[in-house]
Amino acid sequence: MKGGFRRRDFIQMSATLSWLGIFSTCVPKSNSTQENTNQTFSGDPCEDFSGISEPEFKVREAFGYVKDSPIAESQCKNCNLWKPPAEGLSCGGCTLFKGPVYDQAYCTYWAPIV
Ligand code: SF4
Repeated sequence: MKGGFRRRDFIQMSATLSWLGIFSTCVPKSNSTQENTNQTFSGDPCEDFSGISEPEFKVREAFGYVKDSPIAESQCKNCNLWKPPAEGLSCGGCTLFKGPVYDQAYCTYWAPIV
């Protein structure tokens, strides 16, 4: 069924976050981000996970994050949970988990902008 961010999705997401024991760390502090702050990382900044713990990274995996969306019309940049990059930076973020996020990425919690 195609649709928005439904109550069932919210309950499932909350259960997942509770299971991982990190719900309190997922509350966004701003509306824009680039959370990779390692100044010495020389690769793609959207692949810099050096500031993210293993449990935090598992949250990303639990949500089925992939860096290239398999659905052309559903990408992070048009998701209601997207946090756009801070000015001058290239990676955004997600309200659901920590770390850099590609604008063309996707996860199973994609929700249309309302
Ligand atoms: S598609 Fe998933 S990873 Fe991307 S912004 Fe939306 S909830 Fe976050």
